[in-house]
Amino acid sequence: MDGAGLVRDALEDLCREHLVPQVALDRHWPWARVRAEQEERRLFEVMRRLEPEEYRQARALLAECPAGPLRVLRKRWDRLWMRFDFFESVSDWPWCQLEGWWYPCPKCRWPMRVVETGQEVEVRCEAHRARGVHYRLSLERGGRGVAPVLVGTGRASEPVVGFPASVDHLALSRPVWRYGVLPTLLEIELRDRLKDQAHVRVEMWPGELRPDEYDLRITVAVPGRPVRTWRVDAKDWASAAALAKALLEREPKPYTLFIVVPDHQAHEVAYLKARLTGRRTKVLTLTRLVEQIKRAARGVQ
Ligand SMILES: [Zn+2]
Repeated sequence: MDGAGLVRDALEDLCREHLVPQVALDRHWPWARVRAEQEERRLFEVMRRLEPEEYRQARALLAECPAGPLRVLRKRWDRLWMRFDFFESVSDWPWCQLEGWWYPCPKCRWPMRVVETGQEVEVRCEAHRARGVHYRLSLERGGRGVAPVLVGTGRASEPVVGFPASVDHLALSRPVWRYGVLPTLLEIELRDRLKDQAHVRVEMWPGELRPDEYDLRITVAVPGRPVRTWRVDAKDWASAAALAKALLEREPKPYTLFIVVPDHQAHEVAYLKARLTGRRTKVLTLTRLVEQIKRAARGVQ
């Protein structure tokens, strides 16, 4: 808990990923772990039922349109809108409201958390705070009908504007954000970092049998050398232990699967590798994978 007696961001995800006895947290933490798990399973079931083209569309929309005014979301999600009922009203989420306004993170576009401690107000993205997405409330006040102004305090704190936290502003549920939006952003980052690399081809959500089989297929074809292929799944979990457990529950694939995690989880790679030995699974950070592929593309073994 933080000084104000609120559950800290990371703790909330840890509790959701592990089976924490609900009674222990009931007083401070109203969401049931079971709900996160059900919601995550429901997301994958909905995704699995989509046609390959719709699946790719949905993945791209998770990254581009996870929150916003209802009319904008409905237009962008278009024919997927009715099938993708994972949106909740921001007005029901007090944790992201500042005087009746909410602010999308410049990286994931999902509502940032508002933390008031005494006189200080900090607004930050739970997932991207470590990468420098945090703000403080400006002393300069907006006035009636205008969102309070935020001043960036981190290296990635691009200017943001507030939206009214009204019933017609929606955001994807928290489990869908964590297990759908965040890994999709990681995959897109990986693709973009390899975009201009000669001899490298990146396919998003190709799946040989089904598009959700794995996330990316990266092929390196250097003339005169054998073609090399990486099949990659991106994972952005708060807990490495829970991630290892989830991966161990899956059937091993008939090919080597590369699990890519965010760079800030570099210290957990060794643990994940140890847990997953003998499973034809390799674990590395985004930057390490990019380096490995670039080396292969330059013809270095
Ligand atoms: Zn974010």
